[in-house]
Amino acid sequence: MRKVNKKTMLQSIRQQEQSAQKRLAMVLLRSVIAVEKSRDSKTGLCAATYAAQQTCPPSCPLLNKGCYAQKGHTGIHTSRLNKASTTLTPNQIAAQEARKVRTLAKSKHPLNLRLHVVGDCADRRSARKVSRASRFYARKTGRLVWTYTHAWQSVPRRDWEGVSVLASVSNVDEIEQAREQGYAPAIVVQTFPGNTTKAFTLDGSDCKFIPCPQQTGKSKDCQQCGLCFNTDRLFQANMGIAFKKH
Ligand code: SF4
Repeated sequence: MRKVNKKTMLQSIRQQEQSAQKRLAMVLLRSVIAVEKSRDSKTGLCAATYAAQQTCPPSCPLLNKGCYAQKGHTGIHTSRLNKASTTLTPNQIAAQEARKVRTLAKSKHPLNLRLHVVGDCADRRSARKVSRASRFYARKTGRLVWTYTHAWQSVPRRDWEGVSVLASVSNVDEIEQAREQGYAPAIVVQTFPGNTTKAFTLDGSDCKFIPCPQQTGKSKDCQQCGLCFNTDRLFQANMGIAFKKH
């Protein structure tokens, strides 16, 4: 009798563990979206990932204060991802994103991949995990992977090996700090000086900013422009990208 009870107990524990694992797997599945084809007027036709905002650095000045990913159509996805991820750590979400990037690499018609239409990698372990999968994607498909990060203060550029990544800075003081971390900066400005397409500097920095050609009408979209696809070249030339505030 005792033996039967022990067996039943073990079975019940195992079942509980299995159902907890299933629940975690379901939640993980909903914490990241990876799409083979995303057609946005700015990025053009590309693959893309969306991760819950639990992965964003809490210090991001736009979090819950004007983040574009919390508005409009993208905002609906963001809200769903966030709700599905309340019990997850950023690292668990990054692991799920890495898995999905590897799956994207099996696409028959792979495209350049934009990481983090929403989301980020706010710690070094997460960035390295997603970068490893991105290198796999690039190797397998011959396509590029690019993104922007608000977590550049805690994650040095070298942790993003294989990914073209710009540091989203909030002010002029941060330009040099981002460069010290190895990043080319991206900054949002009220207007482009002189409303031209020419590169410009900001008071207090010698970094030259190129107005985003998609915004100035010089390029149709990111696929045609490609400036953000080679951020190391921008870094070496002490250049960055400027975006005009919407
Ligand atoms: S600079 Fe070029 S690649 Fe970068 S966001 Fe603008 S259009 Fe896209």
